[in-house]
Amino acid sequence: MTLTAIKQKTCILLKPDALEKNVVGKILDRLESEGFKLVAIKLIPPSKQLLEQFYAEHSGKEFYERFMEFMLSGPLIATAWEGENIVQRSRDVIGATNSKEAKPGTLRNLYGTDNRKNLVHGSDSPSSALRELKIMFRELD
Ligand code: ADP
Ligand code: MG
Repeated sequence: MTLTAIKQKTCILLKPDALEKNVVGKILDRLESEGFKLVAIKLIPPSKQLLEQFYAEHSGKEFYERFMEFMLSGPLIATAWEGENIVQRSRDVIGATNSKEAKPGTLRNLYGTDNRKNLVHGSDSPSSALRELKIMFRELD
């Protein structure tokens, strides 16, 4: 299937387990190798307020409390990327939510642990990307 090329932005978070496992460079290298352009990057110290806002859609779900605990277990790296159809293409590179079920060669398959500790976040639509980038990169507004 050929997709019409649409230039998009996406927000990819390198979760605390990515830093813990020392695979930040490998993740960035892989995303750059896909032809995605890095447009902003910063280290974010753990912040409950910021993450509650970022993950508001999951508030109240059965996994939420333990998920938040994991997300607050260390700093994360927020990145903004640009590319053709990057929202879907980057999610394909990231792989399924559960690292154990992610396709071979995807980032979560290579370096993720499980359902919760799955290495990276990737926006699921162009509109979520804009919302998430606003939260993580307020200063770029
Ligand atoms: P994705 O990151 O693949 O878009 P979701 O948006 O559904 O997945 O969930 C957000 C994050 O919450 C996941 O990346 C994962 O870290 C965590 N999560 C999702 N489902 C579960 C679950 N059943 N148990 C534990 N953690 C989960
Ligand atoms: Mg999601």
